[in-house]
Amino acid sequence: MLYSELFAAHLEQLSPGELSTAVEVLIEKAFAISRTQFWIRKNQPVRDAAGLRRFRGYFARLQAQEPLAYILKEKEFFGEPFIVSPAVLIPRPETELLVEKALVLLGKKPARVLDIGAGSGCISIVVALKSGASVTALEASGPALRVLKKNITRFGLQEKVIPLRGDIFPTKSGLFDLIAANPPYLSEKEWRGLPPGIRRYEPRSALVAGRAGTEMLEKIIAGAAGHLRPGAHLLLEIGHGQLRVARAFLKRSGLQEMELVRDY
Ligand code: GLN
Repeated sequence: MLYSELFAAHLEQLSPGELSTAVEVLIEKAFAISRTQFWIRKNQPVRDAAGLRRFRGYFARLQAQEPLAYILKEKEFFGEPFIVSPAVLIPRPETELLVEKALVLLGKKPARVLDIGAGSGCISIVVALKSGASVTALEASGPALRVLKKNITRFGLQEKVIPLRGDIFPTKSGLFDLIAANPPYLSEKEWRGLPPGIRRYEPRSALVAGRAGTEMLEKIIAGAAGHLRPGAHLLLEIGHGQLRVARAFLKRSGLQEMELVRDY
């Protein structure tokens, strides 16, 4: 069998909704070859038996709806490769919008940033790479914290990103110039309606806030004022249909709404 035949045969079996590039990417990973090598080899026979076994294993996982990022153990965010495992949420493109906003607000001056529920660390790390800020990356889950630390090391940011085990606010941490969070904001009911690939593989605690879905937003907004310097900013990702209640939380907390951005 030629590489091109292996490729074509699996492209045909791909479940609808899966990107056709997934087959190519899994062949590259299984045979440890680059994109260029893949194209060069297309008309050569597959001789690497171990590579073929790996490929079949990966492909079976994809067919079982495991997200490609978990199979590859990597996900690109803001053009940077992050280590991921099922202990952390897979970084989403919408969250890049939140990071862009943070970078505009921060500029290049030294600043202190808090990232609540850092997960893989995608927000913390891009902020640390592209601004003058140092970041406290707070994460409640032990296994997620281990992935976060691996990413901090991968990007050589041990001096600028401090991983911390904790739920919403760190104790005795002083005031911040910016707080960013992509908190869990789904209700239990919404979670049951998610595609199986997300529901079965991604961490529930990173997605579900509670019965209503707004529980974490409420806690973050209520506590944020006490951790922000005057004139500082809170950047939050919220769910579809949560604007009214988020505004009510803001009003109660005395924070002022500056801007609302609709994502994809
Ligand atoms: N901050 C991480 C992200 O945006 C994790 C968020 C989460 O686990 N809810 O991807």
